[in-house]
Amino acid sequence: MTTSVPASRGHRALLAGWGLAASSATELVDVDAGTLAAAVKDLPARGGIARGLGRSYGDPAQNAGGHVLRLAPTNEHIVIDDVAGTVTAGAGVSFDDLLAVIVPRGYFVPVTPGTRFVTIGGAIASDIHGKNHHADGSFGDHVTSLRMMLADTTVVTVGPDNDPDLFWATVGGMGLTGVIIDATFRLIPVDSSRMSVETRRIDNLDDIMSRMAASDSNVRYSVAWIDLLAKGKHLGRGVLTNAEHATATQLAASQATDPLCFDAKQIVAVPPIVPAPGVINRLSVTAFNELWYRKAPLVRQGELQSIPAYFHPLDLVGNWNRVYGRQGFLQYQFVVPFGAEDVLRAVIERISAATLPIFLTVLKRFGAGNPGHLSFPIGGWTLAIDVRAERAGLSALLNGLDTLVLDAGGRHYLAKDFQTSPAAVRRGYPRLDEWLAIRERVDPAGVWASDLSRRLGLTPFRTN
Ligand SMILES: Cc1cc2nc3c(=O)[nH]c(=O)nc-3n(C[C@H](O)[C@H](O)[C@H](O)COP(=O)(O)OP(=O)(O)OC[C@H]3O[C@@H](n4cnc5c(N)ncnc54)[C@H](O)[C@@H]3O)c2cc1C
Repeated sequence: MTTSVPASRGHRALLAGWGLAASSATELVDVDAGTLAAAVKDLPARGGIARGLGRSYGDPAQNAGGHVLRLAPTNEHIVIDDVAGTVTAGAGVSFDDLLAVIVPRGYFVPVTPGTRFVTIGGAIASDIHGKNHHADGSFGDHVTSLRMMLADTTVVTVGPDNDPDLFWATVGGMGLTGVIIDATFRLIPVDSSRMSVETRRIDNLDDIMSRMAASDSNVRYSVAWIDLLAKGKHLGRGVLTNAEHATATQLAASQATDPLCFDAKQIVAVPPIVPAPGVINRLSVTAFNELWYRKAPLVRQGELQSIPAYFHPLDLVGNWNRVYGRQGFLQYQFVVPFGAEDVLRAVIERISAATLPIFLTVLKRFGAGNPGHLSFPIGGWTLAIDVRAERAGLSALLNGLDTLVLDAGGRHYLAKDFQTSPAAVRRGYPRLDEWLAIRERVDPAGVWASDLSRRLGLTPFRTN
């Protein structure tokens, strides 16, 4: 006699991305490896999509009228292989929990985004990049294998050498090829939990870009904050921070007793909703940007910072996304290939001229992309800006920027996207048809669906 495992109970939920700009009602179902198949069999006509910690900014992890499957964080099953230098962990495990296990053992994740509150499943599905893309590539480059459940509930193991088509369609595939159950990936061995950081305040965009280009070959982590309100000869001024993992011998005596100590705290939480116009406006942001720029040293080298301080400073403030108020915000992130520096400058000029209250602006350099059909990074410059949703004229401004970016051979990051169009995805991702064919092979009925997939035409329209 066989007993069927009941799907975990779902409940109605209003889900949004980190930008809080567009929520939709769904049935949120908590699953683990044992209940996943039953939950997939239970999916309604509107299908289902996996969700991690909801740190993508837009709508890829929500599914209006359908189901959203949230994988349990199986922290007890984090297995480090010291010989291979890899870890195997459940897709629902967060980087926060993972770092607490691996850093004291002398390892770091191969790629981290600007927050620790993402899951392994979310990191693979978005093929996330970090401040080290020019040196180490994106997360998918380090995954040696993953197990996933397909729409017909078959569980398959794929990797770069095992059904590479499905593997690379899943890396960056925004959950639309199946639910990742667990994954094995390479780690970076580290001697200490500290970063040796060089900070440099730089007066204009050209200098920032030439310094970043020059440090490609000898700096592992590099990122620049840009003041998008600066104009004229100061256009694109900013603060460049480069870093390496500190060796144990670089530590101060007080730190050397426990060189791999990892302590990540949140120091303050933003109240539920802050009245945005009172907080984020042109005057407050102009003052903030000026202060942020001036407080940076002209040059400071060899400063020791903790992993959270260098990689995840925003995590120090819980729910900081609410500071934009009820209408939420969006992050506009694009990449343009090397050679299109004039386009990057033109984008910055247009945003600067629009005088939007923008304080979070990040510029990075990408190395070459990987075989992921929908993986975002290509060799070039990527700029990410946070801007409050519903600003008058914002759509028109962004549509104009889209044209500049796409004409230059660039593209937009789906994990951040909230406003682009199916046509922009088709132009930006020339291998979209290959990806659609693989998606069709593993999910002909379009079981996996999200608000993003419907908005951008990535899944077939289902009528039953
Ligand atoms: C403050 C902040 C800083 C960030 N910095 C960066 C950065 O530097 N670089 C970068 O690349 N990104 C960055 N991000 C974006 C973030 O890394 C990605 O959106 C990531 O995918 C979020 O992971 P998550 O677990 O929250 O996934 P969710 O946001 O919940 O989901 C993201 C996608 O992953 C899919 N997914 C989740 N779990 C699974 C699974 N088990 N199987 C299949 N698909 C799954 C979902 O369906 C969805 O399409 C940042 C986000 C924030 C809030």
